[in-house]
Amino acid sequence: GLVTASGGPTSHAAIMARTLEIPAVMGLGDISKFESGEKAVVKGTDGEVLLHVSDADFEKYAAEAKAYREHLQVLKESAALPAVTKDGKEILLFGNIGKAEDASHACHLGAEGIGLFRTEFLYMKNDELPSEDMQFEVYKKAVGRLGGRPVIIRTMDIGGDKELKCLQLPKEMNPFLGYRAIRISLDRTDIFKTQIRAILRASAFGEAQIMYPMIASVEEIKAANAVVETAKEELRAEGIAFNEDIQIGIMVEIPAVAVAAELFTPHVDFFSIGTNDLCQYTLAVDRMNENIGHLYQPLHPAVLRLIKHTIWASHEAKQITGMCGEMAGDPVATMILLGLGLDEFSMSASAIPVVKNIVRSVTIEECKAVAEKALTMSTATEIVAYAKTVLAEKGL
Ligand code: PEP
Ligand code: MG
Repeated sequence: GLVTASGGPTSHAAIMARTLEIPAVMGLGDISKFESGEKAVVKGTDGEVLLHVSDADFEKYAAEAKAYREHLQVLKESAALPAVTKDGKEILLFGNIGKAEDASHACHLGAEGIGLFRTEFLYMKNDELPSEDMQFEVYKKAVGRLGGRPVIIRTMDIGGDKELKCLQLPKEMNPFLGYRAIRISLDRTDIFKTQIRAILRASAFGEAQIMYPMIASVEEIKAANAVVETAKEELRAEGIAFNEDIQIGIMVEIPAVAVAAELFTPHVDFFSIGTNDLCQYTLAVDRMNENIGHLYQPLHPAVLRLIKHTIWASHEAKQITGMCGEMAGDPVATMILLGLGLDEFSMSASAIPVVKNIVRSVTIEECKAVAEKALTMSTATEIVAYAKTVLAEKGL
């Protein structure tokens, strides 16, 4: 188990723990009561840590954990079954990865594509910026493991809670609102073009797609696309193969894009909703701040409305909307998201079996009714309670 004093369930340490299937509870605040060597129960599913547990209770929780693992094992054995609702709608269930090697694990657990390849770890682990060739090998390996199925490679999302040794980033008062992600890429187009060239070269070996993080304006998309065009011209001149029709999408994680989604569809091939950031920006709740963790509510009525509008706009433009924030892997949200029309769910591999089981057990019609009812409610608390009741009634 992993327990931290600071951070929240969408901090990148939590996301990595989820990928590694380590029960984790983040942002406990005061951990001075913990004593070295003391046994504790880490209830990752409920976000609770229990101390001073009697031997009898310890046995009880150990049995609970064993039953949970066995339940997951049964679901994992169905990983290869198609993600189709009972009334026949095919849903794209994809995995989120942070390194190429994770792609196989995601496929093993039922992922039919990679909806988010977080590339910033390539930049974080070395003292030097990763070269084009090094990145190309990594992206090529990832697309190779997917055998022609999509791998959405997100261009570097440095900044926020992700610092970099190889690039001295300024210390900022509000790093999540600051010099981050596409803002750095468009400032340092030398670094950005190197990455784009590597992705384009990998696109000759499989279905690599490009996704820009932290987009707030159409101008940013145009500026980023101009870099892609330059990279394409260079590769053509050098006689290097790439996919001319590579798909380019954006993360919808700044409320401005969700609110005005119909203005962005003409400039992209797809959307992917990044609820981790969308939620913190919509609710003005720092996703890393444990003191306000209870205010971080992905099922807040305002967040649901932004998701609804984003999906509506993309469908109007005959495009698809995915989601790659942690909400996509939260079973409590699955039926609502299906009801809102979400086309693709991308999540930590470990969450796929549970979400796939829900997808396979419901109809779109009933999910629409659940989503509609949820949208009449005025608080996240009511919505969560309602969604949990629906799941429980269905034995899910
Ligand atoms: C998100 O914001 O939802 C997202 C997927 O990106 P990250 O967690 O890497 O910021
Ligand atoms: Mg984000």
